[in-house]
Order: sequence, then C-alpha cells, then structure tokens
Amino acid sequence: MSTLKISSITNSIIIKSLLLLIISMIFIVMAGTYIFTEKQLKTTLKLSYDTNETQLQQLANTANNEMEQFASRLTLLAKTSEIQSMDKFTAAGYLKSFNISSLFISGESISLFDRSYNLICNNSMLGSAKISYPIEFNRISPHRPTISPWYRDADGTPKRAFGVVVSDRALGDGRLISSFSIRRLWRYFSEYKVGQNGILIACNGQGEILYHPNMRTWLDGVHKISELGLGDMNIKQDNDDNIRFLTLENGSTYLINKTFNPTYDLGLIALQPKTEIDAQVSSVQHISRIILYSSIIAILLVSLWQILIVCKPLNNLIDHISQITEGNLNIEEFKAKSSQDEIGRLAKVFNQMHATIKRQIQELNAHRELLEKEVKERTYELEQANKKLDQISRTDELTQLPNRRDMHRTIEKEVDRANRFRKAFSIIFIDIDHFKNVNDTYGHSAGDAVLKSVASTIRGLLRKYDVLARYGGEEFLTLLPETELKDAAHVAERFRKQIENQTIFFGGKEIKVTITLGVAQFDSGQGAEKCIQLADKALYEGKEHGRNKVILWNDDRAVESLDNMQS
Ligand code: GH3
Ligand code: MG
Ligand code: MG
Repeated sequence: MSTLKISSITNSIIIKSLLLLIISMIFIVMAGTYIFTEKQLKTTLKLSYDTNETQLQQLANTANNEMEQFASRLTLLAKTSEIQSMDKFTAAGYLKSFNISSLFISGESISLFDRSYNLICNNSMLGSAKISYPIEFNRISPHRPTISPWYRDADGTPKRAFGVVVSDRALGDGRLISSFSIRRLWRYFSEYKVGQNGILIACNGQGEILYHPNMRTWLDGVHKISELGLGDMNIKQDNDDNIRFLTLENGSTYLINKTFNPTYDLGLIALQPKTEIDAQVSSVQHISRIILYSSIIAILLVSLWQILIVCKPLNNLIDHISQITEGNLNIEEFKAKSSQDEIGRLAKVFNQMHATIKRQIQELNAHRELLEKEVKERTYELEQANKKLDQISRTDELTQLPNRRDMHRTIEKEVDRANRFRKAFSIIFIDIDHFKNVNDTYGHSAGDAVLKSVASTIRGLLRKYDVLARYGGEEFLTLLPETELKDAAHVAERFRKQIENQTIFFGGKEIKVTITLGVAQFDSGQGAEKCIQLADKALYEGKEHGRNKVILWNDDRAVESLDNMQS
C-alpha cells in the first residue's frame, strides 16, 4: 500500500493546483465578503435612514393633523350660537360645559374677547381672570385661524395661541383665542421609537427644545438644540437627503433625520445611535465571516478528498509501474474504487497492460526453454558425433585397434605414470613375416583377413591394462604397463607361438603366418621414442636372423633369449 510521502506532496501537480485553488478561493471569498460587507453597510445605513425618515414624516403629519384639528374645532366653536351670542353667561356656561371642556387638555385655556379686546369670558373655573396670549389681537384674520409663536406660560409648558374671529352683527367682531399645549403631542412623541434606543427631539424654528425624552433636564426652562451638540444644525433648512452622523454632548454618535413644518413651526429630529447600525452591520460581517470560514473548510475538505481520490491512487499506480520496471510482474491488481471515473479507467488499462506484459513474458520464457532444450539436444548430438569422430580418429578401421597416433598418446601417459611411480613398462614391436606374399598369393582381401585375425588373436592374449595398436601396414605395437623386459619377452613369445600355431581360413584356403617381435623396456633416461626405436631395432634383428623370433633389446644389444624363455 503506497503512502503519501513528503516528496510526493511537494512534487504533486494536483496538490500544487489545489493549493493555488485554495489561495485563489480564499482571496475571492475574502474580497467578496469585503465588498458584500461594504455594500451591506451602505444598504443598512440607507435603510435605517429611510425608515427613520418615513416614520418621522408620519409623526410630523400626525402632529400637524393634531394642530389642524385643533384649529378647525376652534373655528367651528366660533360659529356656535352660544359663542356668537357674545353673552358673558351664555358663552361662559357653554365653554365650561362638559362637551366643550373635554375638547381641551389640562393647562389649555380658551377665552372670548369683544372687538375691543375686553374679556367676555373664559373656561377658567376660578372666574374671569384675564389670561394673556402672545398674539396680536388686531391681526387675527377673519378667514382662517391665526397662530402665535411658541411661548411658555407659568408652568413652563410650550404652548401656542390660536385665534379666530367671532362674527356678531350687533356687537361687532369678537375674538376667540385658545392656547394649544405641546402636551397634546407628547403622547405621540413618547410612543415614537427611533430604532431600538434612539431619541426623538421636537423643537421650534429657533431651535428651542419642545420635547425631549429626558424632560427633567431639557424641559426645565428654555433649552436649545445647540446645547445637545446639534449646534450647527439649522432645523428650518430643507432636508437634503444627506445621510450624516453627529456626535452629541453625551459622547455618543447618532444618525440624524429631521423634518420641519414652517406652518406649525415644528421641527422633529430623530437620533439613532450609530452603535445600533454598526451592530446590524457587524451581524452581517459575522455572517460573512462564517461564510468565509465555511468556504475555507469546504475547500480544504474538497482538497483532502481530491488528494485521497486522485493523488493516493496515482502514487499507488506509480509504485505498481516501478515494480514492473524492476521486473516484478507478480504484483497485485491495481484496484480503483470506481470503475467509471478516470482513475478507474486508468486502473483497467493498467491491469490489461500488466496482463499483456505478463503473458508475453511467459510466452518468451516458454520459447526460451524450448530453445534451450533444442540447444541441449543439438549439443549432445554434436558431442556424440565428436566422440565418434574422436573414436574414429583414434581407431584403425580394419582391425578396430587403436591407431598409431592414439598409441603415441597412450605411451606418453604411461611415460608420465612410469616417471611418477618409478614403474617399468615394455614395448613389443610386432611385424607379420612375408606378408607381401600373403597378398600376392591370396589376394588383398585375404591379407586384410589375416591382419584382422592376427590382431584379434594377440588382443585375446593381453591383460586388462595392456594395449595393442596397429602401428603401420602389417606392424603392431604392444604396450605392457608395469612389465619388465623379461616378462615382456614371455608375453611376446606367447604371441609368437599362438600365431605360429593358428590357421586362418579365408575363401576356402588355409593360411598360416608367423610374426617377428622386438621387445624393449622403457628407460626414463632415453624416452619413449627411443624405446620404440630399440624395439624396432630388435625386430629388425629378428628379421635378419630368420623371422618368427622374439628379440629383446637388452644392455645396448639385441639378444634372442628364446631358449631361456622356454624354460
Ligand atoms: P618381411 O618378412 O620382411 O616383413 O616381408 P614382408 O613382405 O612382410 O614386408 P614388406 O614390407 O615387403 O611388405 C609388406 C606388405 O604389406 C606390403 C603391403 O602391400 C602389405 N600391406 C600393407 N598394409 C596392408 C593392408 O592393409 N592390407 C593388405 N592386404 N596388405 C597390406
Ligand atoms: Mg613390415
Ligand atoms: Mg613383414
């Protein structure tokens, strides 16, 4: 089983590609997250701003409606017969009646004046104490309600005076004037939410605070929005749709939305803490980070999977190929998890290739064995032929005796042995007497038969170690190992007698022959050649002295010891 080595990791194209992919993916995901976060930041901010803007506008409408309704009710009131009577008791009774008094809230007053600005009556339960309104009496318009600027009465609550004309044909035009308390709007303001922990501030065109959630601090006396840290802000200025943040005197930074209604001289400012918007963005950033980390983990897991399904089998395959390269064909099959994918197909092709190589090598081996067997057989045959040739080259064809050349080799060996073990050996030179006559008398074939017969007879008389060879035409040489001259003479005499006494039958004819023999003993000082020469010399002596003799070469002379031998 192959393992992933460090070198195979650093050299792997797949792992390098995966690393590159991981780095690129991380870069893309990080860049994407950054862009997404930035966009989300802008979107969140815009959304918060727009939401605040819409809600603030609704609140401004509600406040405006409240003031409009107040003005219309006053107008309607001025048209009632009780008011138009301009009668002190009738009007006062009417104003103090439950139906009318319930139209006003605590701290609000309504007063009826005659054309000379003399008080006719008011809704005060304490009598007709004159209540002053900061409104120019003569400028109260007959067509629509006249509204005073914001003012503060004794309890410090911001108020406005609304004045309408009361038409009375007899007494002339009177004036109905009522104060409008900001408290009417506070319930809307206090219920109003800016984000989670935002603040709503109401002010007039001069920037005087009319409402602040922290009433104790900001509604105790006249305070301006500049004191809050909104110094450079002109509430009257048109909203320019510019999203902006301001850091207030409490040290916190807020997203600012504002609206101003010039008719009612009412400005509304919504302050949403920047931390809230940041929190929303940071949750997006948090999600982005989760996406980033999840992507990295996913990429790493995919990479690991890739390494497992691609790198590992490839390394395994390389190991298999290496084994085959080293000549080890008896390896396991290369197994792949799936047969359909690239690795699976590679495994299939590899296994087929492995099987083909294995089969071809087996065929080659079988062929080689066959060749080797054939070579062996041929070599054996050649050896046999060579042996035969050697045998032929060493054998005389007619007599089947060793020939002259083979005899020389045998004698050389015997010389070695004799020298080594200081043993004697003798040689007998044999020649058929008057053999020419046999040929001449009986024919060449008869001569051949005589040669064969003589050879066979002499061989029959030899010991196991003695060697007889055909040395020439009708000449034979006998080697008698471990035999001294005297014993050799005896052997020679036995040959001579046997030949002399035997008759050869050939072609119905009886042929008799004799042989002459020369005997010499090997002398290590003279050598084998000399020994043969001396035996030949002795033979020559035998021929000279009548043939059918055994002549010994003894003490530098040829002697016929026939008589002695016979004894
Ligand atoms: P000697 O007694 O002096 O030895 O007389 P010889 O006639 O035997 O000697 P010589 O040398 O005159 O003759 C030998 C003859 O042997 C001559 C030759 O034709 C014959 N001869 C040699 N080899 C063969 C052979 O293989 N077959 C036959 N038939 N004759 C052979
Ligand atoms: Mg001869
Ligand atoms: Mg002869």
